Amino acid sequence: MLTDIEIAQNCSMQPIRDVAAKAGLLEDELEYYGKYKAKISDDAWKRLKDKPDGKLILVTAINPTPAGEGKTTTTVGLGQALDKMGKSSIIALREPSLGPVFGVKGGAAGGGYAQVVPMEDINLHFTGDMHAIGAANNLLCAMIDNHLQQGNELQIDPRRIVFTRVVDMNDRALRNIVVGMGGPMSGVPREDHYMITVASEVMAILCLATSLSDLKKRCGDILVAYRYDGSPVFARDLKADGAMTALLKDALKPNLVQTLTGSPCLMHGGPFANIAHGCNSISATRMALKLADYTVTEAGFGADLGAEKFFDIKCRKAGLHPDCVVLVATIRALKYNGGVAKADLGTENLEALKAGSVNLQKHIENIGKYHVPVVVAINRFASDTDAEIEYLRTLCHDMGARYALSEVFAKGADGGMELAQMVIEEADSGKAAFSPLYPDEMPLREKIETVAKEIYGADGVSYSPAAEKSIDAITKLGYGNLPVCIAKTQYSLSDDAAKLGRPTGFTVNVRTVRVSAGAGFVVCETGAIMTMPGLPKKPAAFNIDVDEEGRITGLF
Ligand code: ADP
Ligand code: MG
Repeated sequence: MLTDIEIAQNCSMQPIRDVAAKAGLLEDELEYYGKYKAKISDDAWKRLKDKPDGKLILVTAINPTPAGEGKTTTTVGLGQALDKMGKSSIIALREPSLGPVFGVKGGAAGGGYAQVVPMEDINLHFTGDMHAIGAANNLLCAMIDNHLQQGNELQIDPRRIVFTRVVDMNDRALRNIVVGMGGPMSGVPREDHYMITVASEVMAILCLATSLSDLKKRCGDILVAYRYDGSPVFARDLKADGAMTALLKDALKPNLVQTLTGSPCLMHGGPFANIAHGCNSISATRMALKLADYTVTEAGFGADLGAEKFFDIKCRKAGLHPDCVVLVATIRALKYNGGVAKADLGTENLEALKAGSVNLQKHIENIGKYHVPVVVAINRFASDTDAEIEYLRTLCHDMGARYALSEVFAKGADGGMELAQMVIEEADSGKAAFSPLYPDEMPLREKIETVAKEIYGADGVSYSPAAEKSIDAITKLGYGNLPVCIAKTQYSLSDDAAKLGRPTGFTVNVRTVRVSAGAGFVVCETGAIMTMPGLPKKPAAFNIDVDEEGRITGLF
């Protein structure tokens, strides 16, 4: 089989104008970024906003192996299959980050015969949204440090600046730095930190904003620091909100691309799900719901992270009512959860499959807590044996779950017909009665404990002294009614990457708590999770190259 990038490069793409027409967009509503990418102008929303919404389908997964489980691949394949069935459908995905592209996992445009294109553009600079978000974030940082330099009228305590710089790269050397070195003309020395752009509050704001004025208000609401007297300082106090919004005005518009078979995909916003809220933008999702009868969207990592945040943050804030969940499971990840080492995942092992299936069971139960019907998609890998597939079918059957074998990676739309049929049945069944896990009014500690106990299966939560203090301070400032965004390892239901399967008898350790007042949630960092990843010993970057003709190789 060809590599992902070879398949993508062999695809003869439709002009994006034709893809837009198919999606029901007018030519006037497009802002072209070359022949195959476009942003959608506000006029489209003005025209469509009173139309009824189509069905919303969320693709999520069990706890993954480090290579990813194929949620994006399944999302794209399902979109291609729905399109082939003649259904009005659209995909809504996140934009990739350069961190994973050059790190371990690779790109985020799907795989095999289920991809969105132009794959290289999407995985590299795309339409510049990631750059705009980084620039807006770092403008605010520059204005904070300039404020200190120019006399610090607001009396900002340089030891209590909570807003940090970002870059879209895995670069662990920037996690903890000192800025302002070099004497009086070069700033006030202080400790600072970098996050990866996809973890930033500005990314979350872009994804949750519903209009340009809402975006500006949220930028102004970012809590950046505390004064010496302990009172908060906001971005608006530094007069940064207008300029940040100017940098973000085009980034707020959803991007239109296409699948390998020319069906439409809105790709917009890209927060990670382990260290951020993990969903594409509200503006793209609600646009998709107006354009098509079926919208297929993805939330990051396992259902304990992405789906929980999709439900409890995105759906809560946008008033969305998901109609069906597709839970992606792979034989590899089930064996991994059953204790098999990464190097041995290609070997048949029914016992490990059974042992790991407790992870699948837990995620099925969890989705039930949101009252949305679920279909298990078994994402087939070439290394899966027939005996393993049959056994997994039996396991799913015994759990009482609906399931379909998905072969979209190898076969494109044809490999997703059974899944698509089942998803339509469930989405149209009227069974869904979505409600979030906890009410707004619940105190922050109880919210954290509810997610930890109900979703992760923990016995309870322990807090560092700093976290205890932050929760009290944040509550006192009036943010106690916000939802929580828990930063946690993606490999385990617990906050310890080594606890696979369905761990029990553990406590979740909350290390730090901070408010993203502009985004509208409270971030809780657990375990050893970091908001700036590092590169592995052999990063994917080693294999990426470009020839004389500008043809890129080695992206996956
Ligand atoms: P996720 O969205 O869950 O992180 P992706 O869909 O991005 O996962 O897939 C992760 C990687 O695995 C990609 O490189 C993709 O090409 C590959 N992949 C996904 N499904 C399959 C499959 N069935 N067989 C082989 N490779 C696959
Ligand atoms: Mg993905």
